[in-house]
Amino acid sequence: MTACGLNRIYFPVTSLGEGRRLGVWFQGCKKRCPDCMSPEMQPFTQDTVAMEDVLDRIPGDIAPDGMTVSGGEPFDQPAALRLLTAWFLDHHTDDILVYTGYTIEELRARSDRDTDWILSHIAALADGAYDRTRNTGVGLMGSANQRLHVFRRRDRYLDFTSRPRRMQCVDERGQLFLIGVAPLDRDAGAP
Ligand code: SF4
Repeated sequence: MTACGLNRIYFPVTSLGEGRRLGVWFQGCKKRCPDCMSPEMQPFTQDTVAMEDVLDRIPGDIAPDGMTVSGGEPFDQPAALRLLTAWFLDHHTDDILVYTGYTIEELRARSDRDTDWILSHIAALADGAYDRTRNTGVGLMGSANQRLHVFRRRDRYLDFTSRPRRMQCVDERGQLFLIGVAPLDRDAGAP
């Protein structure tokens, strides 16, 4: 079994990519960006779950157009992220977008088999640490220093860095949760 820290899984996410997507947020991040917009997802949890069990419990009747993975830092848990990626490819589509605070160069320099496998199977990677001073308020990236690397499904990412931002507000058992990259006049809920 592959232990992992997860913050939440939600479907459908409509504000972080094309169509109705499965959203997965990892819990825990080593990056500690000074302007982190999801500080509640930085601590690593003691209450880990087995990724295999989580995947078994995702309803089989959803039909997501893609999956967006964020956090926290997905690449701080590469074995679990690889399992999730492989499961989504087997059961759904190849449109998998991962947000990471690492640069793609940092990830490749790890020479880690799981990390390399993920990078060769996902559709797109939004990389780099969030920098509040370079937040333009436009597009589905948090700040202008971050880069979008598109490996497949290019048609779905043509306007990704210029698309107007909007927040999706969902009610989870009485608790409101904002999903998306916050416009400049908002300050919560971005990856
Ligand atoms: S912005 Fe993302 S990568 Fe940076 S500390 Fe926060 S969760 Fe981690």
